[in-house]
Amino acid sequence: MIFSKEQIRQQSKSFESSSPQEILSWAIDTLAPEITMSTSFQTQSMPLLHMAIRIKPDLPIQFLDTGFHFWETLIFRERMQMAWKLNLIDLYRDSRWDNFCRQFGRELPRQDPNLCCYIHKVQPMQKGIQGYRGWISGIRRDQTEERARAEILEQQPDGLLKVNPMLNWTSNDIQAYIREYNLPAHPLYEQGYRSIGCSPCTRPVSQDELDRAGRWDGRGKTECGLHTSMFTHKELQELSGNFVLNPLDNESTN
Ligand code: SF4
Repeated sequence: MIFSKEQIRQQSKSFESSSPQEILSWAIDTLAPEITMSTSFQTQSMPLLHMAIRIKPDLPIQFLDTGFHFWETLIFRERMQMAWKLNLIDLYRDSRWDNFCRQFGRELPRQDPNLCCYIHKVQPMQKGIQGYRGWISGIRRDQTEERARAEILEQQPDGLLKVNPMLNWTSNDIQAYIREYNLPAHPLYEQGYRSIGCSPCTRPVSQDELDRAGRWDGRGKTECGLHTSMFTHKELQELSGNFVLNPLDNESTN
């Protein structure tokens, strides 16, 4: 089924008062088997994962293995894959970056986190969702200013339909669902890691901070790029002040 922009806009608007389960059911009924979902296995991701596999147990689940995760995240991923029999797909950086990362990899998250996220998250996800017509993500409007402007259904420039069923849920809704179904928590949650990404870019937060305040703290960054524009070619060229991506372009402007 192909939707016009107007149909997507109307459908998205009508979902504003729907539950995440209703939105998920519609998306899976409409697009399966050409629909996938991404998860980071942090505590607040568990409700969406739980809802999705109750509707479609073999839904392809994409996990970005950046190489910078806390070991607790990787162990938790293993536990959950075995316990919930997930159809899990691990995504890795393209091997063309290996030489570059061998040389600069450890400093990259501090020196140039945008380039680092492009290499380890955005590009692998772009590859991972190729061939699908729908991509389910767990972003919420209460997380960041960027996310507050998101829509429940968003058509990407390449035609992919991004589905954001949790958009209108709050942190309290997430906690209530976790309690209701007694869902497991990421091992670091109790230590104040309410939002968990890669270890060099995550710190625990205090009670009076927002959940995502500990992500890229002090680096002028709140998003990895997955849920914004996924980087256009122009933005890619502007990514880095530290590393020259295309020396020929650079020469021509000097
Ligand atoms: S979150 Fe940090 S370590 Fe992970 S890919 Fe982005 S910059 Fe690199």
